[in-house]
Amino acid sequence: MSRVFATFPVAKTLEEHLAQCDLLQRTMPTEPQAARAVRLILGDQLNAAHSWFRRVDPQVLYVQMEVRQETDYATHHVQKVLAFFAAMRRFGDALRAQGHRVLYITLEDARNRPDMTENLRWILRESGASTFGHQEPDEYRLDEQLKAFASACGCSIEVADTEHFLTQRDELGALFKGKRQFLMERFYRVMRERTGLLMEGPNPAGGQWNYDHDNRGRPPKTHVAPPPLLFDHDLGDLGIMIEKAGVKTMGSVDSAHFPWPVDRAESLQLLDYFCTHLLPSFGTYQDALMPDQWALYHARLSFSMNVKLLSPLEVCRAVEAAWHADPERISLSQAEGFIRQIIGWREYMRGIYWDKMPAFASMNFFGHDRPLPAWFWTGRTHMACLRDAITGSLQNAYAHHIQRLMVTGNFALLAGVHPDEVDRWYLGIYIDAIEWVEITNTRGMSQFADGGIVGTKPYTSSGSYLNKQGHHCGTCFYDVKQRTGPKACPFNALYWHFHARNRQRLESDDARPGMMVRMGMVYRTWDKMDPATRQALLD
Ligand SMILES: Cc1cc2nc3c(=O)[nH]c(=O)nc-3n(C[C@H](O)[C@H](O)[C@H](O)COP(=O)(O)OP(=O)(O)OC[C@H]3O[C@@H](n4cnc5c(N)ncnc54)[C@H](O)[C@@H]3O)c2cc1C
Ligand code: SF4
Repeated sequence: MSRVFATFPVAKTLEEHLAQCDLLQRTMPTEPQAARAVRLILGDQLNAAHSWFRRVDPQVLYVQMEVRQETDYATHHVQKVLAFFAAMRRFGDALRAQGHRVLYITLEDARNRPDMTENLRWILRESGASTFGHQEPDEYRLDEQLKAFASACGCSIEVADTEHFLTQRDELGALFKGKRQFLMERFYRVMRERTGLLMEGPNPAGGQWNYDHDNRGRPPKTHVAPPPLLFDHDLGDLGIMIEKAGVKTMGSVDSAHFPWPVDRAESLQLLDYFCTHLLPSFGTYQDALMPDQWALYHARLSFSMNVKLLSPLEVCRAVEAAWHADPERISLSQAEGFIRQIIGWREYMRGIYWDKMPAFASMNFFGHDRPLPAWFWTGRTHMACLRDAITGSLQNAYAHHIQRLMVTGNFALLAGVHPDEVDRWYLGIYIDAIEWVEITNTRGMSQFADGGIVGTKPYTSSGSYLNKQGHHCGTCFYDVKQRTGPKACPFNALYWHFHARNRQRLESDDARPGMMVRMGMVYRTWDKMDPATRQALLD
C-alpha cells in the first residue's frame, strides 16, 4: 500500500533544531541539583500548555523517567514503548530549551530503579527538595502508587490537574448517581452544551444531536482511502537500548523508519492531514472494513491525545472549523461523527473508569474462562477478517475501532475468552493503550463483562454483519453464508452458541434493564429455527 511520508522543514530556531535532531545522540543533564520542588512528569503527561510550564522557576526540578515498572506491567508492542520514550525525550528537550530544569533518567542510567517511587526517593534526597509535585495520573494503579508514596515521603505535596480532559474524574459518576444506566448519549449532549461544539445557541447544529445512522457505509470493493500519513524517525539506537535492557515486547517495527508522531508539531501535522484528506469521508466509512487498508479514514490521533500532545478540545475545534470552512466537502455528519467519539466516548470512558475502578477490573458477567487463542499473537488463522486485523495490529500497533470491536473483540466474546486475557492483549498491542481507555473499551464495550454499564447490549455479530461492512469474506477460506460444516464461517455458529448459552444471564435482573427488548429479535429468530438446525449450530 502507498504511504505518505511527512517532510521536515529546515529548523529555524533552537527549539526546532532540538526537536529535529536524533533523539539519542543528545547528551542529557542527569544530575539532580538543589531544588525547592521536584515535579514528576509521567510518560502520558506531555502537555506543553500545562500551567506548570508558564513560568521558568530555577527552584523547580522536573523529573521524567523511563522505568521498568512501566515497560513491564504488560507485554507492550515494541512501537508503543518506542513511541512513549521518543515522545518523552522530545518533550524533555523542549522544556529544557525553554529554560526549565529537567532531570531525564533513561532506562540505561545506572541509578535507575525498576520502581518509579524508589527513583523519586533518591531524587528528593539528593536535590534536598521539600515539595513533591505531580499531576493526577490517569491510571488507577499509578494513582494508588503515588498516593502511598506521597503519604510517606515527608515532603509537602502538590497535586495538579492534568489540564487535559473536559470533565473532572468524578463528574460522570455524579451525573448518573443512583442510576443503573450510564447513557453515553445523555452525557454527550451535556458535553456538546458545555463546549458549544456544533451548537447553534441552545440547539444542536442541523437540528439533530447524532448522525450515527449516516455512519454505516460500505465502500465499493475497489475503493482506496487516502494513504495514512507516516513520519520517518530513526529510532534505531532507542530500539537497541530497549532490546539490550531485555524489555519483553511484541509486534514488529522498522525502527529506522518509525512512523508515529512523537511531538506536538507532528501531532498537529497529523491532525491537519486528517481534516484535509480523511474527515470528508470519516463518518460515512467509520464502520467499514477493507482488506489491507489498516487506517482507512481514521485519524490515528489517539496516541497523540492520550499522551496529551494534543488536547481533545483543540482537536474537536479543528474539526469543527474544517466543517465550517468547507461544508460542501465536509458534511455535518462527518464532523459530528468524529466529535462524538472524543467529547462523547473518550470522555465518557474516563468517567466510567474513575467511577467503577477498581471493581471494574475484575468484572466477568458471563463467567468466561477460556484462554485467548495462540494465533492472536501471530495472525495465523484462515479467518480473513481476523488475520487482517491481527497482522495489522502486530505490524502497526494499531487497528481501527471496528476491527477492535467487531472483529477481534467480537470473536473473543463469542468464544468465551476470559476478560483478563482479552485485556492483557489489548493493553499491550495498541500504541494508544492506557488502562483508563483500554479497559473500559475492552472489558466494558467489547466484552460486556461489566453486565451493561458501558453498552446497552453485547456487541456481537455473525459473519453476515462483517460481510455487510467490508470485503474480507470474498477472499476467505470460510464461506460466510454457511452456518455449519467444515467451511462454515466460524462467526455464525459462535454467534448462536453465545446467545443460546447466555440466554438466562441476559434475561436475568443482573443484566441492564430493557436489554431483553433490544435482544428480542435475536431470540425470536433462534426460537423459530428448527431444532435440528439449532442443535447443529450448538454442536
Ligand atoms: C476493544 C477495544 C479496545 C480499545 N482500546 C483503546 C485504547 O487502549 N486506547 C484508546 O485510545 N482507544 C481504545 N479504543 C477506542 C478506539 O478504538 C480507539 O480510540 C481508536 O481506534 C483510535 O484510533 P483513531 O485515533 O484513528 O480513532 P478515530 O476512529 O479516528 O476516532 C477519533 C478519536 O476518537 C476517540 N475515540 C473513538 N472511539 C473511542 C472509544 N470507544 N473510547 C475512547 N475514545 C474513542 C479516540 O480518541 C480517537 O483518537 C478501543 C476500542 C475497543 C473496541
Ligand atoms: S467468512 Fe467469516 S471468518 Fe471469513 S472473513 Fe467473512 S466473517 Fe471473517
